[in-house]
Amino acid sequence: MYQPAGPFPSLVIRAETLVPRGSFAEAQAQFLDVDPQLTAALDAKLEKQAVGVVAHFYMDVELQGVLSACHWPHVRISDSLKMADEAIEMAEAGMRSIVVLGVDFMSENVRAMLDASGHKDVAVYRVTTDPIGCSLAESAKKLEYGAFLTQAAQVPRSLHVIYINTSLDVKAQAHNLVPTITCTSSNVVQTVLQAAAQVPDISVWFGPDTYMGENIRELFEGLCELDDDAVRALHPAHDRNSVRDLLTRFHHFKQGSCVVHHMFGQQVVETVRDKYRGAFITAHLEVPGEMFRLALDAQHSGRGVVGSTANILAFVAERVESAAREAGSHRLRFVLGTEAGMITAIVRKVQNILSETGGDVEAEIIFPVASEAIAQSDDEQLPIVPGVAAGEGCSTAGGCASCPYMKMNSLDALSDLLARLETKTNGQLDGYHPQKYTELISGRSAADLGGEPILHMRALQRTGELPAALIDDLLSRH
Ligand code: SF4
Repeated sequence: MYQPAGPFPSLVIRAETLVPRGSFAEAQAQFLDVDPQLTAALDAKLEKQAVGVVAHFYMDVELQGVLSACHWPHVRISDSLKMADEAIEMAEAGMRSIVVLGVDFMSENVRAMLDASGHKDVAVYRVTTDPIGCSLAESAKKLEYGAFLTQAAQVPRSLHVIYINTSLDVKAQAHNLVPTITCTSSNVVQTVLQAAAQVPDISVWFGPDTYMGENIRELFEGLCELDDDAVRALHPAHDRNSVRDLLTRFHHFKQGSCVVHHMFGQQVVETVRDKYRGAFITAHLEVPGEMFRLALDAQHSGRGVVGSTANILAFVAERVESAAREAGSHRLRFVLGTEAGMITAIVRKVQNILSETGGDVEAEIIFPVASEAIAQSDDEQLPIVPGVAAGEGCSTAGGCASCPYMKMNSLDALSDLLARLETKTNGQLDGYHPQKYTELISGRSAADLGGEPILHMRALQRTGELPAALIDDLLSRH
């Protein structure tokens, strides 16, 4: 085994080989080398039963390795924004069922969007009958979140911008109190700016991710220091003054965080600064401010990116492609400031680029490890092992920044579900469906009401504007 060139494990991606550095990276690399018989068997089962699979980038690395090697065209791995779109495409292509590999808010989102697009007959399954939670989604169920919304409801022209990482009933209850639109990490900045462009004196209430709220505020404060043309390049209806004005009415929830992105704190940042000079820095918008600032500074000089998982993947791909088209050999290093499961998509993308371009490039992906992700053990030979004592943040499929909820999806669980689907009788698989949320809120089912903020987001994605129904709702509540 190669030892890491720095304190963090890393995986060096070459055109046809992977070189893991450190035991964590070795586990990642091992699962990317997939047995073709395994994928052939999975392809056959999915095709036989007309099943589509939508999986999140943070899936278990073994499962993602197999999925990414499948030939069945209705298997996709993406960010949460695209998962529902892909499920709709699969339904339109004739799939009878969609398996969602992610956490529960993702399967609820897919169910709501299939219903809204006329595909109520297409079944949606999760791979376990246990709830698959999310620390962020739980934050929005706290009493404090209710208080945050109650405060918002008392302010005229309030718009609640809720992160998609929340359950459907939370979205429904919130929308009942304050007009609500969902957002993802890839569209949150544009959503807030567009809302302020369309509604003078709007008050924006963002939640539940506290770090993301703080990072958005800091981003807007940074815009106030730029010249007006630079601000207009981000959103044509804004200049420094309009952003400064918006900041006085931008509020974010102060008690919500993702257990995974929380690990990218000061200690990780200091190590990256000291030991990984010259590396490209990537960071998800959910990371703490120290990491956000590091990546944002890097972004300003063209050496990094802050954004969604899709933004991070696009940044790595773009850098590798441009180096591959230059003469000579190149060695690029990227600090991965998000959940480690992203590595599968990055490896597949980078190797595709290198095989298409024939470029001589090595891309090293560095996985920051927080000391919180190191547990003490009683074993005299192994006093320190990867993984925090409570198991959060690490799993046997990987260590470090690894989401324990996402890892409730496994290859075994998927195979088990497909076997059950083959022999199912009515009602037998009820526990595998997303929750139905049939309770009524102001005369509408929670599922229907909670789907509306997602439909508002999709309308914004399609047209570039907040839909008239949302604006009317917002202006008519006071
Ligand atoms: S990484 Fe896990 S805990 Fe964090 S927001 Fe995603 S699902 Fe929730």
